[in-house]
Amino acid sequence: MKQIVIHNIRIELEKKRIKNMYLRILPPDGRVHISAPLRMSDDEIHGFVTSKLDWIIMQQSKIRSRHTNQVLQYVTGEEVTIWGRSYTLRIVEAFGRNKVEVIGDEVIIFSKADSTKEQREKLLGQWYKKALEAEIPYLLARWERNIGVSSSSYRIQNMKTRWGTCNIRTKGICFNLQLATKPPKCLEYVVVHELVHLLERSHNSIFKGYMDRFLPEWRSIKKELNGME
Ligand SMILES: [Zn+2]
Repeated sequence: MKQIVIHNIRIELEKKRIKNMYLRILPPDGRVHISAPLRMSDDEIHGFVTSKLDWIIMQQSKIRSRHTNQVLQYVTGEEVTIWGRSYTLRIVEAFGRNKVEVIGDEVIIFSKADSTKEQREKLLGQWYKKALEAEIPYLLARWERNIGVSSSSYRIQNMKTRWGTCNIRTKGICFNLQLATKPPKCLEYVVVHELVHLLERSHNSIFKGYMDRFLPEWRSIKKELNGME
């Protein structure tokens, strides 16, 4: 079996005596497997994958979110996701400052040789936080304008059961740090959801009506987030 990489997605390619091309996304890590007819050229396979790219990324994130509670050990070779895309984790011994860098399809954590799992987790968490902080202000500004409400402040933290919360009294919003692992539209959905709470407190039909109006595709995005609100 051949391994190819198309648009940052690693694909197992198997050529067989078959008529049609088959593409499968496999659990638990969402790896992509293609069975292609013997006569199929690399060009045709590349074109096929490109045309299915959005679908592949969506399926991968669905499959992975079903298996999210895989606990990372923060060692080289593990899969980590950023904005719904999968990367391979590499731990590199740092002699200077600890840091995280994303290069190609690798997430590299530079940390002391004797760093603990918790220390590495924290470094990646800080990187996730920065990634969210680079997006949230723009999303808030845009959606506050669209919806006609304003929040007072936001913060980011790890939450076990929610993707976001909105304090209606203080108008402060809290985002789950793990949103940085999900496709960008998931963060946008949570922004819209929490801001709509400033119009309607509970998840009733009025709330859903606002969601339908502002973000018609919200139901499918919510599904991707395991239905958790
Ligand atoms: Zn809610």
